Amino acid sequence: MASSNFGTVIRNVRLPCAEQHSETPAWDIACLGGRVQSITSSGSCIPHDEATVIEADGGVLIPSLCHSHIHLDKCFILGQCDPLITGSLSEALQVTNKAKAEFPKDVDNLYARATYLIRESVESGVTAMRAFVEVDTTVGFTCLDMGLQLAKEWAEVCHIQIVAFAQEALYESAASTEPGLNYNLLCDAVSRQGISVVGSAPWVEPDRAHALKNIELILSLAEKHDLHADFHLDYNVDPDAAPMVWDVLQQMHQRSWRRSSGKRVTIGHATRLGLFSGEEWAELKRATDTLPLEIVALPQSDTYMMGRADSNGKIPVPLAGRTINAPQVYREHGVRVALSVNNVENAFTPQGSLDPLTLASLGVALFQVGTEPDWRVLLRSVSITSKEAIGVINGGNTSGESADEGDGIVPRIGDPADFVVVHGARRWQSTVLSPGFDRTTFYKGNVVARRRARRWNANTGGEISS
Ligand SMILES: [Zn+2]
Repeated sequence: MASSNFGTVIRNVRLPCAEQHSETPAWDIACLGGRVQSITSSGSCIPHDEATVIEADGGVLIPSLCHSHIHLDKCFILGQCDPLITGSLSEALQVTNKAKAEFPKDVDNLYARATYLIRESVESGVTAMRAFVEVDTTVGFTCLDMGLQLAKEWAEVCHIQIVAFAQEALYESAASTEPGLNYNLLCDAVSRQGISVVGSAPWVEPDRAHALKNIELILSLAEKHDLHADFHLDYNVDPDAAPMVWDVLQQMHQRSWRRSSGKRVTIGHATRLGLFSGEEWAELKRATDTLPLEIVALPQSDTYMMGRADSNGKIPVPLAGRTINAPQVYREHGVRVALSVNNVENAFTPQGSLDPLTLASLGVALFQVGTEPDWRVLLRSVSITSKEAIGVINGGNTSGESADEGDGIVPRIGDPADFVVVHGARRWQSTVLSPGFDRTTFYKGNVVARRRARRWNANTGGEISS
């Protein structure tokens, strides 16, 4: 890792400024102590002799990327699962549970898959992630131990928040009045050093009453151990299903969760919110002005899995209706929605890249957005908004900033020096519209990853190094 007490100068970058100039000026960014020290016209910064100087050759510098929701233990397992026949949610649960039972028997495979996910993510520009690892009677603490170990190993390169996550029900049956063994294991897990978040999927409980109890148990654990909470919530596109986000907000209000405390409650999927009326968004906006609730949508997973036609001939929900239209929700209601990858190559999400910029690019077509302000919202949703949603930087769904330089996409002096330079991008818009492969990742002002394609073709020949 390139690191220097005399700082780093990133020479000759272009910045995602909102102005329309065809010829955007180039800049030098000096970083010291993990923060931006100066931003000057390219060529005018005279670095200290001992400083690390990185030539960016006119690449576009954007905030580093963030997985606000990613499963570290069940990525890349499609080849270990029974073949998918229907692609349905119940089939995904069934084949994944079968594969998951093997995790403790092949720990090397578990580590190798998770390490590959982290490595590829960092090389695409990710410097922060919220990683879910499951804790239950099937896997015990195997996934948790793996997550904690890798978070430590990668700490200088990427901030990895570990979620002790109950994917399985905490109550054994609809008749249960007390939580069962999965809950006991979770209680043990959250008392361990290195856990940042406690999470669950209330929708797997036997009924709504138990789902609500699940939420209460998780919020109590979060409070007791001073953790963030994260729910897989409102995972349906059924207008008749009462959204549980209101129950979560009510609990947060009663329990005096406040933005000033720094701990957040994040809801993932939240596909039911995609059906919200303007009045419902306005109500949510009012609530989130004081209560620290953040929303992470997972379009790659939810457009695949949600809103399918059923055997009764039900009409499928259109693609964009299977997730939350993040640019529209911000434009019309001022609510920030983070976007994240969730799963890679498993039965819940067989397709899609782990590169957050590819996800932003998908959003352009999915939400049919053609304006620069909307593209900036998409770029922010996989970088700054995602970091806010998991609480690694301040901000989040407080009252709005304007969608220009004030959106935090262009660095300011004193900001954390966490960036990715996208090389070969003709202009900043290309980082969303057709993100390039060649990248350099900076974390705390240091280069932590470089990615370059090797190129050759039969016409011009010769390997081109970029
Ligand atoms: Zn998930």
